[in-house]
Formats: sequence, structure tokens, C-alpha cells
Amino acid sequence: MDYYSRQISKLIEELSSLPGIGSKSAQRLAFHILNMPIEHVEQLSSTILEAREKVRYCQSCYTLTDDALCPICKNANRDHKTIMVVENSRDLAAYEKTNKYEGVYHVLHGAISPMLGIGPGDIKLKELMQRLQEDVDEVIIATNSSLEGETTAMYISKLIKPIGITVSRIASGVPVGGDLEYIDEMTLLRALEGRTEL
Ligand code: ZN
Repeated sequence: MDYYSRQISKLIEELSSLPGIGSKSAQRLAFHILNMPIEHVEQLSSTILEAREKVRYCQSCYTLTDDALCPICKNANRDHKTIMVVENSRDLAAYEKTNKYEGVYHVLHGAISPMLGIGPGDIKLKELMQRLQEDVDEVIIATNSSLEGETTAMYISKLIKPIGITVSRIASGVPVGGDLEYIDEMTLLRALEGRTEL
């Protein structure tokens, strides 16, 4: 990238390190930023910085939030006895968009993957088991239908079943390996309603 000055190259390099941003997109974004009014650039960078500094895990469900408890866990109208287990905060948002799920969530922040060396201790599983000591009726496992998601679902159901809490798995209408956030709301709703007890 010798054709650009050092500062421009550095900006392009930083942008292209973000997921989904190839070198062409990074160049386009870099020149867009360079042409933006300086106040706008300041606002963008301070928003990124503030979000990074203030956003943390919800003490109960471990989704990313900027308060001790996220708005869903704080909401007394939600059914706190039904917990849906998802891989990340984006999956939680996908289910929230259906506007039909009234329970609460638990965000694992990953899935078990022996191939990548990600074990049960590397995701928020211990935290889920701790929550189950409270009054819980059902745990709905909504991990992805990828190999990692299925492995995680099986592992969790084996842990929970002996406690006597109902464990169910969302229906496999969700395409294999499909990221939950890219699936439309109707498909998610059908998957949720067609869940089967494990
Ligand atoms: Zn929460």
C-alpha cells in the first residue's frame, strides 16, 4: 500500500482489521472518513470509545449492556422462569425482533469447539448453572445449528437434565451453520414454537 501516505495507509490498515471489511471496503471507508467534517469524525471516534469503555456484561444474563442489569432482565413483565440460551448478543437481538418471546436470556459468548480449543470453561456456562439454582421452569437452547452449536446444546442438556429443569431445543428450521442474526423473524418464531424437549 505504498501509493498512500503513512497516515492514510494506517487508517486503511486499522479499518481492514475489522470483520467483514476487505481492503477495498477499507479504502472506501478511509476516504469517506477523510472527507467527513471534523466534528463528525470526532463524534464517531468518541462514540466508539465511550461504547467500548461503558459497555459491560449484564450481571444476570451476560448480554452486553451499559448498566448493571440489561433492560430485559430489569423488566418485571418478562417471564424470568424461562431462559433462552443463545451464543451472542446479536442472536438475542434477533429473537427480540420477533416480539413474541416473553422469557429472559442467557448469553454464552461463544460455543464449545474442540477443533478451535474452546471448552465449556471458555463460555458463560458456569454462570448459567449458577442461575439455575433460582426458580427456573424451562431452559430453551437456541445455539446455532452448526457443529459447535449442536455440541454445546448437547453438553448443556446433559448438565441440566439431572437438576429436573425442562430443557428444550429450538426446531431445526434454522439452516445449518446459519448465523441466527441473518435469519428472518418468521423462521425464528417457527423454530421457537416448534422446539422439542430434550
Ligand atoms: Zn440481562
